[in-house]
Amino acid sequence: MEKNSDQDFRDRPNNIDASGQRKWINAKQPKGKWYLRRNIVGYILLAFLIVAPFLKIKGHPFMLLDILNRKFYIFGQMVFAEDTYILALVMAVTVVSIVLFTVIFGRLWCGWACPQTLFLELVYRKIEFLFDGNGRKGNRSKGATSGSGWRFIAKHAIFVIISVFFTNVFLMWFIGPEQLWKIISEPIGDHLVGFLVMILLSGFYYWVYAFFREQICTLFCPYGRMQGVLLDNNSISVIYDYKRGEPRNSKVTEGGDCINCLQCISVCPTGIDIRNGSQLECIHCTACIDECNIVMKKIGKPYNLIRYDSFQGIESGKRSFVNVRSLAYTFVLLVLMVILALTVGKRATIDVTLWRAQGTLYQQLDSVTYSNIYQIMFLNKGNEPLELTLRLLDSQEGEISIAGDKINLPPNGKLKEALIIKMKKSALKGKVTECKIGLFSGDQLKESVTTNFLGP
Ligand code: SF4
Ligand code: SF4
Repeated sequence: MEKNSDQDFRDRPNNIDASGQRKWINAKQPKGKWYLRRNIVGYILLAFLIVAPFLKIKGHPFMLLDILNRKFYIFGQMVFAEDTYILALVMAVTVVSIVLFTVIFGRLWCGWACPQTLFLELVYRKIEFLFDGNGRKGNRSKGATSGSGWRFIAKHAIFVIISVFFTNVFLMWFIGPEQLWKIISEPIGDHLVGFLVMILLSGFYYWVYAFFREQICTLFCPYGRMQGVLLDNNSISVIYDYKRGEPRNSKVTEGGDCINCLQCISVCPTGIDIRNGSQLECIHCTACIDECNIVMKKIGKPYNLIRYDSFQGIESGKRSFVNVRSLAYTFVLLVLMVILALTVGKRATIDVTLWRAQGTLYQQLDSVTYSNIYQIMFLNKGNEPLELTLRLLDSQEGEISIAGDKINLPPNGKLKEALIIKMKKSALKGKVTECKIGLFSGDQLKESVTTNFLGP
């Protein structure tokens, strides 16, 4: 494996050498105020990830993304597959928010909230520090296979246990804790598919965090690749103050403030040199800020040679978030949020779909009465049961029959029934007569649906 030179960052990620081989990154454990803050935020987020599937609001899951059964609960509210336009709007708002956030605050998400960073840096890397020590030499110098005997086995055994644990947490978001408990506690044969999914996902999860690691960020993550177009000179990012730091000189009393000690590289989880400027591999984890501050303290120079700042801030000392791009994104975001709020506000609590029974036209019941048969589907999107009656809104000379007098809809429930409309000949307007059916709860019209009545 070849060592990368100072200029190789221009050609390839730092975790790949000139021959295309993987270079294992053995980052030193950071320490300092940013690392502490990141730990606090990260562990709160991990706790939320673990606890959220168990939370209930009025007996409904706080979060459940049950794709198989097309049941989605978001903040305790059931969102039906029929409401996909709301989900699409939520997605659009999320994407524009991320873009806007990135334009202003750079890759704050990557360093502070991305699950990949949380798992790798706050869980797996910590276990590694525990077993292999904290440094680039010794046990950790040869990567995943480093360490011998019991240390290697114990470390990877813990990796496997944690991978199975987090895979189960992940599954709970999609099937709920009750279903997961069934898979775990009941005979394997009863839940063979669920059990196999759990094993395969756990294996994949273990492989990613034990071996593949930061390559997710440097090779695969599309968000990292978007930075080149999203960031501008005013975006806040982890940045090296080249005006203060250059020219580098190992003698403290000569040159700029950077003494070229390379400590900022030693803590970097993607192995890059932040002094080379904004790079795809930088996940803005702040480890280099802390490490450089330790160096600055030792040599008696001001802190924050590496800090959160913008290119413009370093160049001119002035920082401004307001520019045409951030204003345009803000405008689009506000418009989308208003549309979303209006859409959610106007969302009907009942959905009704009516269609003609297959292969039927009309039936003549007597000399003056005709009937049409339909199928009707009701969907109650509310958390309360509903008792509904159906009435024809336009015609006084027609009647509706349905099994039972009333429709009893359970909360968040669906009901499908056969429905017959009878109309007097005098009410028909030719071969096709439009008729409107109202759904009433007591005397309150909750929803209406229009259909065609076929006649002779
Ligand atoms: S830790 Fe600070 S002083 Fe040392 S090389 Fe990095 S930027 Fe320069
Ligand atoms: S350059 Fe600094 S902020 Fe960026 S990934 Fe490396 S240590 Fe983290």
